Amino acid sequence: MTSLDTIISLAKRRGFIFPGSDIYGGLAGTWDYGPLGVLLKENIKREWWRAARQLPEGKTFSLDSSIISSAKVWQSSGHTDHFTDPLVECKKCKRRFRADHIESDKCQECGGELTAPRSFNMMFKTSVGAVEDESSTAYLRPETAQGIFINFKNIIDAFHPKLAFGIAQIGKAFRNEITPRNFVFRSREFEQMELEYFCDPKDADKYFSDMRDARMQWFLDLGIKKENLRFHDYAPDELAHYSKATTDIEYRFGLSKDGFSELEGVANRTDFDLKNHFVGYRWVGDDFIRSEDGFIPNVIEPSVGVDRALLAFLIDAYDEDELAGDKRAVLRLHPKLAPIKVAVFPLVSNKENVVAKAREVFDMLNSDRSSLITAWWDDIGNIGKRYRRQDEIGTPWCVTVDYQTLEDGTVTVRDRDTAKQERVAISEIAGRFIEKLS
Ligand code: ATP
Repeated sequence: MTSLDTIISLAKRRGFIFPGSDIYGGLAGTWDYGPLGVLLKENIKREWWRAARQLPEGKTFSLDSSIISSAKVWQSSGHTDHFTDPLVECKKCKRRFRADHIESDKCQECGGELTAPRSFNMMFKTSVGAVEDESSTAYLRPETAQGIFINFKNIIDAFHPKLAFGIAQIGKAFRNEITPRNFVFRSREFEQMELEYFCDPKDADKYFSDMRDARMQWFLDLGIKKENLRFHDYAPDELAHYSKATTDIEYRFGLSKDGFSELEGVANRTDFDLKNHFVGYRWVGDDFIRSEDGFIPNVIEPSVGVDRALLAFLIDAYDEDELAGDKRAVLRLHPKLAPIKVAVFPLVSNKENVVAKAREVFDMLNSDRSSLITAWWDDIGNIGKRYRRQDEIGTPWCVTVDYQTLEDGTVTVRDRDTAKQERVAISEIAGRFIEKLS
């Protein structure tokens, strides 16, 4: 099992993720994404959008709602009263812990006595405008979903969709977690990918079960090993007050007793949210209007953190093996997720004609019209070292330009997983990579 420390250290060393506010001593629960982290997140999000827009039935609308939102949104949604975690404090060292995360009634840091649990609301409060009073209070959203619910009627009025249909959104969410920990698994600022699939209540059970399977398949298709994933179906007494059925997709992060923790939640949220935001409204015919007839659409919600998914992809892809007697670390990321698709090397960096030819190959790959290829230039150190660097960041292919290239227009293409090399004509390489990426 890959330790979290291995991943944290690789992520920092190779420019995926850095601690937030690092040079000023850090700010707990915040992380800054470096160049490779940005590319990896972008690829995860692209694959999520693709899946969200290719639902077998109905249509999916995209949304980008605001992060700062009226206090009224969170009163209606129930977050002001219920979005709380039980907090205990050590009477001696004043450290705070989530009551449901501790294993004894003594402080795990200093052994001091703990207070009784009290409710702690996790929403970040802020004030909008020049005057700070109760009417200026607003919140940073703790989930993107409510932005979708409050825009439900706007989407209906603009597009007149028939049920069933989805509204999807990717965006930042903020939670003042009592104990942010385990790297990007639990942070205070993170990104969510949420889809709300609205349907006739009579179809909700079927859509819930389809969604649950489709979301599991998404992770499998992107290369996560089957044995590291499982469903956790909630028992009736575990369900949130708004939910009729919930299943977590759990991944073996190695952070809990049996190793598995929530990666994504899929919930049947019934009519709870629409009922609270649009009091008196019902679906009649193909419209959503004030009425006593009709019904309130039910909603199926798959919700997953970009950062938590990224961590699962990193842990799952990390491997160590031996090549020609040398130990190497390799990220076996699915090519669609790999931040860099192909690295281009001139075999030697002091021969002008080899370097110029390599530049030509690099420029050709980098300007690829399909936008599927992200190319990277590296001319530092010997070829073996350059291969190792690319292996460690998950680059599926390396292209080396050498003296033979100048004679016959072929390059060496080396495969990350097998470390096998073959000679391929320059005119064929882009097409070959695009085929594997699409
Ligand atoms: P947990 O029980 O782990 O606190 P949750 O049940 O509160 O999670 P949801 O509200 O269902 O989480 O959020 C949906 C998804 O958002 C989670 O499955 C997870 O992927 C992600 N997520 C939630 N909280 C965080 C966080 N603090 N940091 C990173 N990702 C998060």
